[in-house]
Amino acid sequence: MNYIIKIKPHHFIDIITSFYADRVILKPHYYYHNVHSISKTILENRNTLLEIDLGVDDICKPCIHNINGVCDDMLDISNRPKVPPLKREWNLILDTRWCERLKIDQGTIISVLEFCMLLEEGANNLLEIYKENKREYTIEREIHLKKGLKKYLTSSVIYNYGN
Ligand code: SF4
Repeated sequence: MNYIIKIKPHHFIDIITSFYADRVILKPHYYYHNVHSISKTILENRNTLLEIDLGVDDICKPCIHNINGVCDDMLDISNRPKVPPLKREWNLILDTRWCERLKIDQGTIISVLEFCMLLEEGANNLLEIYKENKREYTIEREIHLKKGLKKYLTSSVIYNYGN
């Protein structure tokens, strides 16, 4: 794929985080979003261009929760009462924090590799970004992000694509 992928910062970072697994399984999600196919593109070409988009991005486009350009999904916040129940509000909080940390913004165009370089510096102390989540989950998230990033940059992610 040679087009520019519009993506929320935390969606990209979640994809890199998922690469920590011994074997990454890329298959359609029951929400019908595009995580699996965009993950494959990222794995195949680190020069792929990304355009930072804080709204409904290319992952969201086919999602069943994309209702006329607005995410209507709700979160289970029973274990994290400071998180807003509307996913789009929580996403915006996270993406705003990531943008501030990585010095990117809506409309920034950056390659996958350049984004990963920013993460080499920016993947520390995720407790500042995910401060409303459970501490132990965030500590685990940071470990997985660093491992996924390292595996991606050393081309050692093993993955299966398909159903
Ligand atoms: S943010 Fe909302 S619309 Fe986008 S993929 Fe997630 S649930 Fe779907």
